[in-house]
Amino acid sequence: MKKARKLAKVRRRFYRPEQHTCPDCQRRLRRAVTLSERTVITLGEVIKLIHAGYRCPNGQCATPGRTYRSAAADALALPGFTFGLDIVLLVGRLRLREHQTVDEIHQELLKRLEPLGVRIARREILYLFEAYCTLLRASSEAKDDQEWLAQEKNGGIIVSVDGIQPEKGNETVYVVRDALTGRVLAAENVTSSETAVMKALLAPVVALGVKVLGTISDAQESELLAVQELWPEVPHQVCQFHVLRDASKTAFEADKQVKTAMRKRLQPKVREVRKQIKKHLVTASPKARQTARGAR
Ligand SMILES: [Zn+2]
Repeated sequence: MKKARKLAKVRRRFYRPEQHTCPDCQRRLRRAVTLSERTVITLGEVIKLIHAGYRCPNGQCATPGRTYRSAAADALALPGFTFGLDIVLLVGRLRLREHQTVDEIHQELLKRLEPLGVRIARREILYLFEAYCTLLRASSEAKDDQEWLAQEKNGGIIVSVDGIQPEKGNETVYVVRDALTGRVLAAENVTSSETAVMKALLAPVVALGVKVLGTISDAQESELLAVQELWPEVPHQVCQFHVLRDASKTAFEADKQVKTAMRKRLQPKVREVRKQIKKHLVTASPKARQTARGAR
């Protein structure tokens, strides 16, 4: 008999641009289109993703046709792929670093995805490996992509840098994107995240000679420095997702410490009060005892 297939646990997520206001006229951006509505499978979860594009609502604005995307949504998966970028990177590493065969990678992924209730076909491994190779070639292709280079509608690009480490302890793949079109501009496997390495990673983007309207990165210092040195005049934004995640971490720790400290200070006092109440209950008159009980 056929075994009942375990259903995937799907998490719904809504993504909007990191940019909230129009850089030209400062008006609040408004939701204009649904850029994609699809399922993305990562190593950690299955996401039902809704990616909304926002535009400036001001009809007199210089760039009303510019659509703002979410860099975080684009970082999840390559366009047209259901399996996430983290899985693409894992396949690339298993194939090239660990020299695993397609069958071995297939088995490993089946195992890794099983807790999510997801299966993967063997031929999918081949597609994912191809995607990995294409991704690492992306920078050389961007400069030959005339159609993309000629997009005057946006008046430039917003450079987003995202470091993805599919597994702790392994190398990080940095993906550089145009946050306005989602196009990958550069991607590199790096083992060090020094500012010089970051600058080298961004060099092909500088070489494109396209106007850079803004930059988005996570709060990693070397990334910030590289971006600042390359485009000193350009507004920079730290990706909210990373900021919120990092901020909540310290807040959570601080909260925990306060709670522990409070408990330590209060506990002896509470104990003392409890003892006193007990003593009073024994010595008090029956009537007072009743009132004390009622108040409890
Ligand atoms: Zn505007």
